[in-house]
Amino acid sequence: MSLRERFEAAFMPNYGVPPVALARGEGCTVWDADGNAYLDLIGGIAVSSLGHAHPALVEAVSRQVATIAHTSNLFLHEPEVLLAERLIGLLGGQGRVFFANSGTEANECAFKLALKHGKANGRTYFVAAENGFHGRTIGALSLTGKAAIRDQFGPFPVDVRFVPYGDADALKNAVTDECAAVFLEPTQGEAGVVPPPDGYFAAAREICTAAGALLVADEIQSAIGRTGHWFAHQHEGVLPDVLTLAKGLGGGLPIGACVGFGPAATIFAKGDHGSTFGGNPVSAAAALAVLDTIEADGLLEHVRTVGAEFAAGLAAVGHPLLGGVRGRGLWLALVLTADRSAQVQQAAQRAGFLVNALQPDAVRLAPPLIITSEQAAAFTAALPAILDEASA
Ligand SMILES: *Cc1c(COP(=O)(O)O)cnc(C)c1O
Repeated sequence: MSLRERFEAAFMPNYGVPPVALARGEGCTVWDADGNAYLDLIGGIAVSSLGHAHPALVEAVSRQVATIAHTSNLFLHEPEVLLAERLIGLLGGQGRVFFANSGTEANECAFKLALKHGKANGRTYFVAAENGFHGRTIGALSLTGKAAIRDQFGPFPVDVRFVPYGDADALKNAVTDECAAVFLEPTQGEAGVVPPPDGYFAAAREICTAAGALLVADEIQSAIGRTGHWFAHQHEGVLPDVLTLAKGLGGGLPIGACVGFGPAATIFAKGDHGSTFGGNPVSAAAALAVLDTIEADGLLEHVRTVGAEFAAGLAAVGHPLLGGVRGRGLWLALVLTADRSAQVQQAAQRAGFLVNALQPDAVRLAPPLIITSEQAAAFTAALPAILDEASA
């Protein structure tokens, strides 16, 4: 039996059967179980920031696992302290950190902070955006504004009100002095890499400050260099009250973080929250290696340069199926003129490129931050034939 057939027999059907079995990777290239090579333009869903088998990540993880792999939160360890200090440093020297294992858990932490803030101040409801994505656990799912993945698991035990993303007036009307918190992505990732109009995040900051609601920035997909800045909220010079991180932070090792600023840094008291694995030494060492490498190799600048080139090159591909290119840095969506993203993904795979059919009419590109101009250009050159095949 093939690996795919064995997967199908052994796994719950929630993922379907993925199209490719990956065996190994190096840099931006991955190989499948049959030895076929692909240029990885999705990076494990914006996770593999340093690509695959990066020497800095291999060294840090190997050294840490051979030193001490796990302590639990009954004991502290140096890698988690270094990592928290490092994140605080990147955030202008402010904030306090909680480490989780994933994005959804980082948001659960933010949600519990907001619930506690709300209970203490007579604030009873939450606001989030239509089509937003915050995770799959019940708390994060209740904030997720996508009916297809949410409705069958509701109703949820919290009052969450949804507003159209990017509409500052709608947000203003929704946020009263009974609102505990507003959860927003600086650009909506799963919705199709959809940026808001300029000034939206700054308006959200003003609206939350005026109403006394916490602004929670879900930067699980957008941070750690993805847009060419450490954090996407820095594009608008806006500091949220709470920030959540995961995906690219660990470069492939599981880690999430929730950072609170100002009064939100100390809402939790002893005993309010915890995680057995959160911020474990191996994941913390991996994240430190990611941050060190981004800095040492000038990857923020690299992402801005290669990302702008890549987007411009793609946008210049004249093809009836390609309507445009959205996004910033190395976080792009090809916007199609018809619902053929699955066909584009398949045609790209046959041509040796891994991309992600994110929405019926949007294909996501979120390659490792180390991708070269030449690698990006190779995909741009192959795109017309891929689009032809997907149109047929
Ligand atoms: C991926 C993602 C999550 C969920 O992260 P998991 O690690 O899959 O739980 C939450 N919010 C955003 C914006 C994401 O992109």
